[in-house]
Amino acid sequence: MNTGITTRGDETLDASKTVVCEICGAHAAHERFDLQKFSYGQDGVILSAIVAVTECTACEMAYTGEDGEIHRELAVRNHLQAVAASPSVGVPDDTDNLDAWKQAIRKDVEERFGPIPDDLVPAGEAAW
Ligand SMILES: [Zn+2]
Repeated sequence: MNTGITTRGDETLDASKTVVCEICGAHAAHERFDLQKFSYGQDGVILSAIVAVTECTACEMAYTGEDGEIHRELAVRNHLQAVAASPSVGVPDDTDNLDAWKQAIRKDVEERFGPIPDDLVPAGEAAW
């Protein structure tokens, strides 16, 4: 059991204070901020969020409530914005490398979404 003050930005939680446990109702729970890691999406990328954790000394349950949902959601949004802002395959500055670039994109897509079927009907030259 961690007792002490934890912070997230300008918020603080004092784990030496007891609060009512939402699970068993005992006035024996402690709240603290903790770094929580969770996997997101089909590729299971690991994201982390600082969430308020409630630990109860009576029923020995530890849980995150609405605060955890909000801050996990924020971590997901930050992740999605970062992905959108920085594609893992950059645009080549040398057009001689265009074929290599297309292969890199194809490889990147395969790594993210699985193999590209080989029996697709050719749709002509790609527009990029
Ligand atoms: Zn409890």
